[in-house]
Amino acid sequence: MAKRDYYEILGVAKDADATTIKKAYRKVAMKYHPDRNPDDKAAEEKFKEAAEAYEVLSDENKKARYDRYGHAGVDPNGGGFGGRGGMNMEDIFSQFGDIFGDSGSPFESFFGGRSGRTRSTGQKGSNIRIKMALTIEEIESGITKKVKIKKQNKCNHCNGSGAKDSSSVKQCGTCNGAGYVRQVRSTFLGQMQTTGACPSCNGSGQMVTASCSKCRGEGRNYEEAEIEIEVPAGVQEGMQLSMRGSGNSGKNGGSNGDLLIVIEEKPHENFTRDGQNVIYDLFINFADAALGTKVEVPTLKGKVNIKVPPGTPAGKIFRLKEKGLPSVQSYGRGDQLINVNIWTPKKLTDKERKLLETMRDMENFQPQVNSGEKGFFERMKDYFE
Ligand SMILES: [Zn+2]
Ligand SMILES: [Zn+2]
Repeated sequence: MAKRDYYEILGVAKDADATTIKKAYRKVAMKYHPDRNPDDKAAEEKFKEAAEAYEVLSDENKKARYDRYGHAGVDPNGGGFGGRGGMNMEDIFSQFGDIFGDSGSPFESFFGGRSGRTRSTGQKGSNIRIKMALTIEEIESGITKKVKIKKQNKCNHCNGSGAKDSSSVKQCGTCNGAGYVRQVRSTFLGQMQTTGACPSCNGSGQMVTASCSKCRGEGRNYEEAEIEIEVPAGVQEGMQLSMRGSGNSGKNGGSNGDLLIVIEEKPHENFTRDGQNVIYDLFINFADAALGTKVEVPTLKGKVNIKVPPGTPAGKIFRLKEKGLPSVQSYGRGDQLINVNIWTPKKLTDKERKLLETMRDMENFQPQVNSGEKGFFERMKDYFE
């Protein structure tokens, strides 16, 4: 099909200036706008044709090419520019922002209206957020906990309708049960027909003439509910779990909100958590450190005995492989790290003091600098690897 001349489409002269072209396009666009010509294919074609004409004539470069070479100069399929396959409706409406001001507002109904023409699906229930404090042991194993929360449940008396009984539900008189209404609005461009959710029934298509006595027409009641929450192993402070549909009940058939569970970690008397690792501070006395010993240490899975070799320095870190926490996202487990502290007595008896004084100046009690002992940074390297 041969294309019509762009100037002819907009009804302007070849020497028309930008303002005149814009004005002319507004007029044509309004005339053939889909909201004013529902289900009219011919009007839609004219509407698209005008948009294409305006796109070329409003652009200085394209207009110059069109004036010189005609359609061939700007034909998207002719390789003239951009390689765009013509304009679709979305392109056209996004263009309106420029022509009709910031909002393009006379046409908002067209975007919103399309989905608004089907019956509204009610109001979604709101989410509920709760905090859950867990011990490290609970995090290690994962746990199922029952919690009591107050939440809006669908009213069982009226089954969520909010009506006293079946005879107290009537078709909405404003929209005749359709759930949406067409309205004619006056805009500076003229009268526009818009479609939106019916303001009388909020899109439900029904009116309740007498309210349910239990929920007073709300369709929902606040009730205490016991909910079982499955917490996977390895969760962390601040993590949020979500249980779909366990939040507040929706209204007018709307879906339920979600229950959001924010994880908190309870402090532990023995362990500090570092990612998937757990850190345990072991205190031994100087004699045990020098002579070596066996000690019992707690882990997340009961007590274990570990050997402290003779000559163990303060700050030594023992690693118990895979005695830490699992990961919530992946396989594998952290370690338990045992940080050795040497206990220094703060009070001494006369006998203890005398013994220490005899040792003080002995040969092997003198600190050896650069004796291969690991300093702080090397110990930290061991710790993080
Ligand atoms: Zn009710
Ligand atoms: Zn209605």
